Amino acid sequence: MDYENEMDFENRMVAPEYAPEDAEVENPLRPRTLEEYIGQEKVKENLAVFIEAAKQRKESLDHVLLYGPPGLGKTTLAGIIANELNVNLRITSGPAIEKPGDLAALLTNLNPGDVLFIDEVHRLSRSVEEILYPAMEDYALDIITGKGQMAASYHLPLPKFTLVGATTRAGQLSAPLRDRFGVVLRLEMYSPEELAKIVTRSARILGIPIEADGALEIASRSRGTPRIANRMLRRVRDFAQVMTDGVITYQSAKIGLDRLEVDEIGLDANDRRMLSAMIRYYNGGPVGLETLAAAIGEEAVTIEDVYEPYLMQIGFLNRTPRGRCVTRAAYLHLGLTPPGEQTPQQSFFDLARAQEPKDSASKDSLDGK
Ligand code: ADP
Repeated sequence: MDYENEMDFENRMVAPEYAPEDAEVENPLRPRTLEEYIGQEKVKENLAVFIEAAKQRKESLDHVLLYGPPGLGKTTLAGIIANELNVNLRITSGPAIEKPGDLAALLTNLNPGDVLFIDEVHRLSRSVEEILYPAMEDYALDIITGKGQMAASYHLPLPKFTLVGATTRAGQLSAPLRDRFGVVLRLEMYSPEELAKIVTRSARILGIPIEADGALEIASRSRGTPRIANRMLRRVRDFAQVMTDGVITYQSAKIGLDRLEVDEIGLDANDRRMLSAMIRYYNGGPVGLETLAAAIGEEAVTIEDVYEPYLMQIGFLNRTPRGRCVTRAAYLHLGLTPPGEQTPQQSFFDLARAQEPKDSASKDSLDGK
Protein backbone atom coordinates (compact mmCIF):
# COMPACT_ATOMS: atom_id res chain seq x y z
CA MET A 1 0.00 0.00 0.00
CA ASP A 2 1.34 3.41 -0.93
CA TYR A 3 1.91 5.66 2.02
CA GLU A 4 0.37 8.56 0.12
CA ASN A 5 -2.88 6.69 -0.21
CA GLU A 6 -3.44 6.27 3.49
CA MET A 7 -6.48 8.12 4.72
CA ASP A 8 -6.52 10.38 7.71
CA PHE A 9 -9.91 10.27 9.41
CA GLU A 10 -8.90 11.66 12.76
CA ASN A 11 -9.99 15.27 13.10
CA ARG A 12 -11.27 15.38 9.57
CA MET A 13 -12.24 19.01 9.08
CA VAL A 14 -14.92 18.30 6.51
CA ALA A 15 -16.63 15.31 8.17
CA PRO A 16 -20.34 16.12 8.45
CA GLU A 17 -20.78 13.91 11.53
CA TYR A 18 -20.76 15.31 15.02
CA ALA A 19 -17.23 15.52 16.48
CA PRO A 20 -16.25 16.20 20.12
CA GLU A 21 -14.80 19.58 19.12
CA ASP A 22 -18.30 20.69 18.05
CA ALA A 23 -19.70 20.22 21.55
CA GLU A 24 -18.71 23.64 22.81
CA VAL A 25 -20.82 25.55 20.31
CA GLU A 26 -23.40 23.10 18.99
CA ASN A 27 -26.05 24.13 21.49
CA PRO A 28 -25.58 27.90 21.68
CA LEU A 29 -25.59 28.04 17.88
CA ARG A 30 -28.82 26.08 17.47
CA PRO A 31 -31.71 28.20 16.23
CA ARG A 32 -34.68 27.97 18.61
CA THR A 33 -37.53 29.02 16.29
CA LEU A 34 -38.56 28.32 12.71
CA GLU A 35 -37.94 31.96 11.91
CA GLU A 36 -34.32 31.75 13.05
CA TYR A 37 -33.74 28.52 11.11
CA ILE A 38 -32.05 29.46 7.84
CA GLY A 39 -32.87 27.78 4.51
CA GLN A 40 -34.91 24.58 3.95
CA GLU A 41 -37.83 26.80 2.93
CA LYS A 42 -40.15 23.97 1.83
CA VAL A 43 -39.60 22.04 5.04
CA LYS A 44 -40.23 25.15 7.13
CA GLU A 45 -43.41 26.09 5.26
CA ASN A 46 -44.86 22.62 5.72
CA LEU A 47 -43.89 22.38 9.36
CA ALA A 48 -45.32 25.81 10.14
CA VAL A 49 -48.72 24.70 8.82
CA PHE A 50 -48.73 21.37 10.67
CA ILE A 51 -47.60 22.98 13.92
CA GLU A 52 -50.23 25.71 13.70
CA ALA A 53 -52.98 23.20 12.90
CA ALA A 54 -52.01 20.97 15.82
CA LYS A 55 -51.99 23.97 18.15
CA GLN A 56 -55.41 25.15 16.98
CA ARG A 57 -56.91 21.69 17.41
CA LYS A 58 -55.06 21.29 20.71
CA GLU A 59 -53.81 17.93 19.51
CA SER A 60 -50.36 16.43 19.37
CA LEU A 61 -48.50 16.92 16.10
CA ASP A 62 -48.43 13.94 13.75
CA HIS A 63 -45.20 11.89 13.82
CA VAL A 64 -42.44 13.47 11.72
CA LEU A 65 -39.64 11.73 9.82
CA LEU A 66 -36.66 13.92 8.89
CA TYR A 67 -34.13 12.51 6.49
CA GLY A 68 -30.94 13.73 4.87
CA PRO A 69 -27.15 13.69 5.35
CA PRO A 70 -25.61 14.40 8.78
CA GLY A 71 -25.11 17.98 9.99
CA LEU A 72 -27.98 19.54 8.03
CA GLY A 73 -30.12 20.42 11.05
CA LYS A 74 -32.36 17.47 11.93
CA THR A 75 -31.74 17.59 15.69
CA THR A 76 -32.11 21.36 15.54
CA LEU A 77 -35.50 21.02 13.85
CA ALA A 78 -36.72 18.55 16.47
CA GLY A 79 -35.87 21.14 19.14
CA ILE A 80 -37.66 23.85 17.18
CA ILE A 81 -40.78 21.70 16.81
CA ALA A 82 -40.91 21.12 20.58
CA ASN A 83 -40.22 24.78 21.25
CA GLU A 84 -42.91 26.01 18.85
CA LEU A 85 -45.41 23.57 20.35
CA ASN A 86 -44.40 24.62 23.86
CA VAL A 87 -43.72 21.07 24.99
CA ASN A 88 -40.72 19.12 26.30
CA LEU A 89 -38.15 17.48 24.07
CA ARG A 90 -36.65 14.09 24.89
CA ILE A 91 -33.63 13.08 22.85
CA THR A 92 -32.42 9.54 22.23
CA SER A 93 -31.12 7.45 19.35
CA GLY A 94 -31.79 4.10 17.69
CA PRO A 95 -28.67 2.34 19.00
CA ALA A 96 -29.21 3.74 22.54
CA ILE A 97 -32.56 1.96 22.91
CA GLU A 98 -31.32 -1.56 23.46
CA LYS A 99 -34.36 -3.38 24.82
CA PRO A 100 -38.13 -2.97 24.45
CA GLY A 101 -38.18 -2.08 28.16
CA ASP A 102 -35.91 0.95 27.50
CA LEU A 103 -38.40 2.33 25.02
CA ALA A 104 -41.35 1.55 27.31
CA ALA A 105 -39.66 3.52 30.10
CA LEU A 106 -39.10 6.51 27.79
CA LEU A 107 -42.68 6.49 26.53
CA THR A 108 -44.39 6.15 29.89
CA ASN A 109 -42.43 9.14 31.19
CA LEU A 110 -43.66 11.53 28.48
CA ASN A 111 -46.17 14.28 29.19
CA PRO A 112 -49.09 14.81 26.81
CA GLY A 113 -47.94 16.48 23.57
CA ASP A 114 -44.21 15.95 24.23
CA VAL A 115 -41.74 15.40 21.41
CA LEU A 116 -39.60 12.26 21.49
CA PHE A 117 -36.64 12.62 19.13
CA ILE A 118 -35.03 9.39 17.97
CA ASP A 119 -31.87 10.00 15.98
CA GLU A 120 -30.68 7.21 13.66
CA VAL A 121 -34.14 5.74 13.81
CA HIS A 122 -33.20 3.19 11.13
CA ARG A 123 -30.97 1.49 13.70
CA LEU A 124 -33.76 0.45 16.11
CA SER A 125 -33.80 -3.26 16.76
CA ARG A 126 -36.68 -5.38 15.50
CA SER A 127 -38.06 -6.06 18.97
CA VAL A 128 -37.98 -2.36 19.89
CA GLU A 129 -39.67 -1.41 16.63
CA GLU A 130 -42.52 -3.76 17.40
CA ILE A 131 -43.26 -1.91 20.63
CA LEU A 132 -43.12 1.35 18.74
CA TYR A 133 -45.84 0.50 16.19
CA PRO A 134 -48.83 0.45 18.59
CA ALA A 135 -47.29 3.34 20.51
CA MET A 136 -47.24 5.50 17.39
CA GLU A 137 -50.58 4.34 16.07
CA ASP A 138 -52.82 3.90 19.11
CA TYR A 139 -50.77 5.61 21.83
CA ALA A 140 -50.58 2.38 23.77
CA LEU A 141 -48.07 -0.19 24.90
CA ASP A 142 -48.89 -3.84 24.35
CA ILE A 143 -46.78 -5.85 26.71
CA ILE A 144 -46.72 -9.59 27.00
CA THR A 145 -45.24 -11.15 30.14
CA GLY A 146 -44.55 -14.77 30.95
CA LYS A 147 -44.74 -17.78 28.66
CA GLY A 148 -47.25 -20.53 27.85
CA GLN A 149 -50.10 -20.78 30.35
CA MET A 150 -48.60 -18.04 32.50
CA ALA A 151 -48.55 -15.54 29.64
CA ALA A 152 -50.50 -12.37 30.18
CA SER A 153 -50.89 -9.34 27.96
CA TYR A 154 -51.30 -5.78 29.12
CA HIS A 155 -52.59 -2.86 27.16
CA LEU A 156 -51.17 0.31 28.68
CA PRO A 157 -52.44 3.66 27.40
CA LEU A 158 -49.78 6.33 26.75
CA PRO A 159 -50.01 10.11 26.59
CA LYS A 160 -50.40 11.42 23.05
CA PHE A 161 -46.90 12.32 21.93
CA THR A 162 -45.06 13.24 18.75
CA LEU A 163 -42.24 11.05 17.52
CA VAL A 164 -39.65 12.91 15.48
CA GLY A 165 -37.39 10.36 13.80
CA ALA A 166 -34.19 11.28 12.00
CA THR A 167 -32.25 9.17 9.56
CA THR A 168 -29.47 9.62 7.06
CA ARG A 169 -30.82 6.70 5.07
CA ALA A 170 -34.56 6.67 4.47
CA GLY A 171 -34.11 3.55 2.34
CA GLN A 172 -32.98 1.56 5.37
CA LEU A 173 -36.14 2.22 7.34
CA SER A 174 -38.48 -0.75 7.53
CA ALA A 175 -41.68 -0.20 5.57
CA PRO A 176 -44.05 -0.59 8.58
CA LEU A 177 -42.09 2.05 10.50
CA ARG A 178 -41.92 4.46 7.57
CA ASP A 179 -45.67 4.15 7.00
CA ARG A 180 -46.40 5.29 10.54
CA PHE A 181 -44.91 8.74 10.03
CA GLY A 182 -47.62 11.17 8.91
CA VAL A 183 -45.11 13.84 7.89
CA VAL A 184 -41.98 12.94 5.93
CA LEU A 185 -39.53 15.76 5.22
CA ARG A 186 -36.29 15.63 3.30
CA LEU A 187 -33.51 18.08 4.16
CA GLU A 188 -31.40 19.35 1.27
CA MET A 189 -27.81 20.52 1.25
CA TYR A 190 -27.56 24.30 1.72
CA SER A 191 -26.51 26.81 -0.93
CA PRO A 192 -23.36 28.88 -0.29
CA GLU A 193 -25.56 31.97 0.21
CA GLU A 194 -27.63 30.21 2.90
CA LEU A 195 -24.47 28.92 4.56
CA ALA A 196 -23.00 32.42 4.50
CA LYS A 197 -26.07 33.60 6.47
CA ILE A 198 -25.57 30.75 8.94
CA VAL A 199 -21.86 31.61 9.34
CA THR A 200 -22.69 35.29 9.85
CA ARG A 201 -25.31 34.44 12.45
CA SER A 202 -22.94 32.06 14.28
CA ALA A 203 -20.14 34.67 14.19
CA ARG A 204 -22.49 37.21 15.77
CA ILE A 205 -23.42 34.79 18.57
CA LEU A 206 -19.76 33.90 19.22
CA GLY A 207 -18.67 37.55 18.99
CA ILE A 208 -16.36 37.05 16.00
CA PRO A 209 -16.13 40.01 13.60
CA ILE A 210 -16.56 38.82 10.02
CA GLU A 211 -16.82 40.47 6.61
CA ALA A 212 -19.37 39.32 4.04
CA ASP A 213 -16.64 37.99 1.71
CA GLY A 214 -15.09 36.04 4.55
CA ALA A 215 -18.43 34.41 5.40
CA LEU A 216 -18.99 33.47 1.76
CA GLU A 217 -15.52 31.95 1.46
CA ILE A 218 -16.16 29.72 4.49
CA ALA A 219 -19.64 28.92 3.16
CA SER A 220 -18.44 27.81 -0.25
CA ARG A 221 -15.95 25.39 1.26
CA SER A 222 -18.33 23.77 3.76
CA ARG A 223 -19.94 21.15 1.55
CA GLY A 224 -23.52 22.34 1.91
CA THR A 225 -23.43 21.49 5.62
CA PRO A 226 -24.02 23.92 8.54
CA ARG A 227 -22.09 21.77 11.03
CA ILE A 228 -18.97 21.97 8.84
CA ALA A 229 -19.49 25.71 8.30
CA ASN A 230 -19.63 26.35 12.05
CA ARG A 231 -16.53 24.23 12.63
CA MET A 232 -14.59 26.08 9.92
CA LEU A 233 -15.66 29.41 11.37
CA ARG A 234 -14.00 28.54 14.67
CA ARG A 235 -10.80 27.33 13.07
CA VAL A 236 -10.55 30.34 10.76
CA ARG A 237 -10.96 32.63 13.78
CA ASP A 238 -7.41 31.68 14.84
CA PHE A 239 -5.95 32.63 11.47
CA ALA A 240 -7.87 35.91 11.51
CA GLN A 241 -6.47 36.72 14.94
CA VAL A 242 -2.90 36.41 13.68
CA MET A 243 -3.40 37.82 10.18
CA THR A 244 -6.17 40.37 10.09
CA ASP A 245 -6.61 41.75 13.61
CA GLY A 246 -9.26 39.25 14.52
CA VAL A 247 -11.59 40.15 11.67
CA ILE A 248 -12.43 37.27 9.35
CA THR A 249 -11.87 38.66 5.87
CA TYR A 250 -11.85 36.92 2.51
CA GLN A 251 -8.08 36.67 2.78
CA SER A 252 -7.85 35.18 6.26
CA ALA A 253 -10.64 32.72 5.45
CA LYS A 254 -8.94 31.67 2.23
CA ILE A 255 -5.47 31.27 3.69
CA GLY A 256 -6.78 29.59 6.84
CA LEU A 257 -8.75 27.02 4.90
CA ASP A 258 -5.94 26.45 2.41
CA ARG A 259 -3.69 25.72 5.36
CA LEU A 260 -6.25 23.27 6.68
CA GLU A 261 -6.08 21.65 3.24
CA VAL A 262 -9.69 22.25 2.37
CA ASP A 263 -9.83 23.44 -1.21
CA GLU A 264 -12.13 26.05 -2.72
CA ILE A 265 -15.00 23.62 -3.22
CA GLY A 266 -14.60 21.85 0.11
CA LEU A 267 -12.53 18.80 -0.87
CA ASP A 268 -9.82 17.73 1.54
CA ALA A 269 -6.72 15.61 1.05
CA ASN A 270 -8.70 12.39 1.58
CA ASP A 271 -11.18 13.21 -1.17
CA ARG A 272 -8.36 14.05 -3.55
CA ARG A 273 -6.45 10.90 -2.69
CA MET A 274 -9.49 8.71 -3.28
CA LEU A 275 -10.18 10.29 -6.65
CA SER A 276 -6.50 10.07 -7.66
CA ALA A 277 -6.36 6.41 -6.62
CA MET A 278 -9.39 5.67 -8.80
CA ILE A 279 -7.72 7.42 -11.71
CA ARG A 280 -4.28 5.95 -11.15
CA TYR A 281 -5.25 2.33 -10.54
CA TYR A 282 -8.54 1.99 -12.41
CA ASN A 283 -8.38 4.60 -15.17
CA GLY A 284 -11.16 6.52 -13.45
CA GLY A 285 -13.42 3.48 -13.16
CA PRO A 286 -15.75 1.77 -13.22
CA VAL A 287 -14.41 0.23 -10.03
CA GLY A 288 -16.43 -1.82 -7.54
CA LEU A 289 -16.90 -0.49 -4.01
CA GLU A 290 -15.09 -3.40 -2.33
CA THR A 291 -12.17 -3.21 -4.75
CA LEU A 292 -11.81 0.50 -4.16
CA ALA A 293 -12.02 -0.02 -0.39
CA ALA A 294 -9.17 -2.53 -0.54
CA ALA A 295 -7.07 -0.26 -2.75
CA ILE A 296 -7.22 2.71 -0.41
CA GLY A 297 -7.25 0.69 2.81
CA GLU A 298 -10.64 1.89 3.95
CA GLU A 299 -13.93 0.24 4.83
CA ALA A 300 -16.61 0.15 2.19
CA VAL A 301 -19.22 1.72 4.49
CA THR A 302 -16.91 4.64 5.23
CA ILE A 303 -16.49 5.30 1.54
CA GLU A 304 -20.25 5.07 1.05
CA ASP A 305 -21.29 7.21 4.01
CA VAL A 306 -18.42 9.65 4.38
CA TYR A 307 -16.82 10.24 0.98
CA GLU A 308 -19.34 9.53 -1.70
CA PRO A 309 -22.36 11.68 -0.77
CA TYR A 310 -20.62 14.99 -1.35
CA LEU A 311 -18.56 13.83 -4.33
CA MET A 312 -21.76 12.62 -5.98
CA GLN A 313 -23.63 15.77 -5.01
CA ILE A 314 -21.09 17.94 -6.84
CA GLY A 315 -20.98 15.58 -9.82
CA PHE A 316 -17.44 14.27 -9.31
CA LEU A 317 -18.44 10.64 -8.92
CA ASN A 318 -21.09 8.49 -10.58
CA ARG A 319 -22.48 5.20 -9.41
CA THR A 320 -23.09 2.88 -12.32
CA PRO A 321 -24.21 -0.76 -12.27
CA ARG A 322 -20.59 -1.72 -13.05
CA GLY A 323 -19.04 0.39 -10.30
CA ARG A 324 -17.94 3.90 -9.39
CA CYS A 325 -16.65 6.28 -12.05
CA VAL A 326 -14.74 9.54 -11.75
CA THR A 327 -16.33 12.23 -13.92
CA ARG A 328 -14.75 14.68 -16.32
CA ALA A 329 -15.43 17.53 -13.87
CA ALA A 330 -13.33 15.77 -11.22
CA TYR A 331 -10.39 15.32 -13.63
CA LEU A 332 -10.53 19.00 -14.48
CA HIS A 333 -10.73 20.01 -10.80
CA LEU A 334 -7.64 17.91 -10.03
CA GLY A 335 -5.84 19.61 -12.90
CA LEU A 336 -5.85 16.41 -14.97
CA THR A 337 -6.77 15.94 -18.59
CA PRO A 338 -9.84 13.68 -18.90
CA PRO A 339 -9.34 10.32 -20.67
CA GLY A 340 -9.48 10.50 -24.43
CA GLU A 341 -8.37 14.14 -24.31
CA GLN A 342 -4.72 13.58 -23.37
CA THR A 343 -1.34 12.65 -24.81
CA PRO A 344 0.55 9.82 -23.07
CA GLN A 345 3.31 12.11 -21.71
CA GLN A 346 0.74 14.48 -20.36
CA SER A 347 -1.03 11.87 -18.27
CA PHE A 348 2.14 10.93 -16.37
CA PHE A 349 2.89 14.48 -15.26
CA ASP A 350 -0.76 15.21 -14.62
CA LEU A 351 -1.03 12.40 -12.11
CA ALA A 352 2.03 13.46 -10.19
CA ARG A 353 0.57 16.94 -9.87
CA ALA A 354 -2.88 15.74 -8.80
CA GLN A 355 -1.45 14.29 -5.61
CA GLU A 356 -0.66 17.80 -4.45
CA PRO A 357 -3.49 19.80 -2.89
CA LYS A 358 -4.62 22.41 -5.36
CA ASP A 359 -3.89 25.96 -4.32
CA SER A 360 -1.57 24.51 -1.70
CA ALA A 361 -1.28 26.54 1.46
CA SER A 362 2.48 26.16 1.49
CA LYS A 363 2.54 28.72 -1.30
CA ASP A 364 0.83 31.26 0.87
CA SER A 365 2.33 32.87 3.87
CA LEU A 366 0.72 33.67 7.16
CA ASP A 367 1.90 37.24 7.08
CA GLY A 368 0.57 37.81 3.61
CA LYS A 369 -1.77 40.59 4.71
P1 ADP B 1 -28.15 16.83 12.32
O1 ADP B 1 -29.05 16.46 13.48
O2 ADP B 1 -28.87 16.83 11.01
O3 ADP B 1 -26.88 16.03 12.27
P2 ADP B 1 -27.85 19.34 13.77
O4 ADP B 1 -29.27 19.71 13.94
O5 ADP B 1 -27.15 18.79 14.97
O6 ADP B 1 -27.68 18.36 12.53
O7 ADP B 1 -27.07 20.66 13.25
C1 ADP B 1 -25.68 20.81 13.37
C2 ADP B 1 -25.33 22.26 13.68
O8 ADP B 1 -25.63 23.05 12.52
C3 ADP B 1 -26.12 22.84 14.83
O9 ADP B 1 -25.24 23.27 15.84
C4 ADP B 1 -26.83 24.07 14.29
O10 ADP B 1 -26.38 25.20 14.99
C5 ADP B 1 -26.37 24.22 12.87
N1 ADP B 1 -27.53 24.33 11.97
C6 ADP B 1 -28.14 23.30 11.34
N2 ADP B 1 -29.14 23.75 10.55
C7 ADP B 1 -29.16 25.10 10.69
C8 ADP B 1 -29.98 26.13 10.11
N3 ADP B 1 -30.93 25.85 9.23
N4 ADP B 1 -29.75 27.40 10.49
C9 ADP B 1 -28.76 27.69 11.37
N5 ADP B 1 -27.96 26.75 11.93
C10 ADP B 1 -28.14 25.47 11.60
